[in-house]
Amino acid sequence: MDAPTVVALLALHILVSAGLLHMVGRAMADGGGLRDFAAGAAIFGAAYVARLALGLTSSHAVVVLLDTMMVGAVLMFASGMRGFFGRGAWTRATVLRVALAFGAVQALVLWQGGAAARHIVLNVALGLGYLTLAWNAARPWWRPLPGAAHASAAGPQGSPQGCERTPALILAGLVCLLGLATLTRAGHIAAFGVGMLYSGAMSQAYFGYSSLVTMTMCPLVLWLVFRRLTHQLADLATRDALTSVLNRNGLEDALRRHFGQRDGATLAWLVVDVDHFKRINDRHGHGTGDKVLRAVARSLMQHARAGDFVARTGGEEFVIGCTSAEPGAAAGLGERLRAAVQALLVPAATQAEPLQCTVSIGHSAPFAALADWETALREADAALYRAKAGGRNRVEGPASGQGDGQGCATAAMRSKAAGSPVAAQWG
Ligand code: GH3
Ligand code: MG
Ligand code: MG
Repeated sequence: MDAPTVVALLALHILVSAGLLHMVGRAMADGGGLRDFAAGAAIFGAAYVARLALGLTSSHAVVVLLDTMMVGAVLMFASGMRGFFGRGAWTRATVLRVALAFGAVQALVLWQGGAAARHIVLNVALGLGYLTLAWNAARPWWRPLPGAAHASAAGPQGSPQGCERTPALILAGLVCLLGLATLTRAGHIAAFGVGMLYSGAMSQAYFGYSSLVTMTMCPLVLWLVFRRLTHQLADLATRDALTSVLNRNGLEDALRRHFGQRDGATLAWLVVDVDHFKRINDRHGHGTGDKVLRAVARSLMQHARAGDFVARTGGEEFVIGCTSAEPGAAAGLGERLRAAVQALLVPAATQAEPLQCTVSIGHSAPFAALADWETALREADAALYRAKAGGRNRVEGPASGQGDGQGCATAAMRSKAAGSPVAAQWG
């Protein structure tokens, strides 16, 4: 195929991709950076079409505008990648300013240095643009944002998820190579002149590779979007909408995974209940009550260990799976969580001073088999009941003589007799 045919097919492909990315971006809540990708693809495609119309080797002054469009398009791709990974897309004004600055330089270069100098500058600018795009695709894994691990556990829009790693790194690798090839091409033009632009093996190889990258870019971006949406869907099914910690489905999944993956691993339950939460609602309103719940959930997430799992199982009740096998780990974690919640200051709409709240916590003895999870949960619930009865804002463990987990059934029966809400929910 000759160069004009290849460029025409690429232009068609890019313009169709632009339409597709635009439609997918419109369907996403925050656009996910896709509108920048779509705009970049549309500008790139339009520049290709105009270049074809002018003739690929034309050095008419209007080529400066087309060069500016191509550099601007690559910046839009990089901006879209930043937006997708929650790093803040560049504003259109910023991209326009940078592209226009390039255009001004390019006009000067064409006027003073001729066609070869213009092609060198264009290839250097595009090469650097591709490297910037590649860097923004690889960066979430190379240099995660501070707090990204927690952000991703809570699953807000825009934070990179592990499942997006493969498409992002493939895209970064392909585009990085294209960037290096484009910079090398600038060197070749400097060495051999513009004659090598559309003829010779080097030029063929460059066109072949850049066509491959152009053709695969849109499917790779859509693969990223697919992974993000699938993850968000799974999150919706397994996470509590108010607090972003696990819901009951998520807790059961985490429980099965825990016992499925690690042979002989123990687990202990902690049941956490906000004290006198109804009073907070009554005095400060439901909205402030929700704020308190979110703050408590965040604090539990922050102070639990990496392998532990945190779930909201009722209105103001949370269950934590403590995965540490160390003796006294559940009691220690319970005390840390209790103190952390007590130290919280939650702004209230109804008063100047921030609100404080406390939690009561009951924990079970460690258990080592999936079949024992309900019994252990009732044990933790019975301990919570004792913490409430004992004055609240405290941590209680299994009743004396049951610390080794032998007396769970008795504790569970006591819990049921007390009419425990958690036992009723989970029983
Ligand atoms: P105790 O110390 O004995 O646990 O007392 P309590 O007031 O915390 O417990 P109670 O069960 O009497 O009240 C729980 C309240 O939690 C009642 C309910 O309206 C409120 N609640 C349940 N779900 C939500 C929610 O999603 N948001 C808000 N703001 N309140 C909720
Ligand atoms: Mg309560
Ligand atoms: Mg309760």
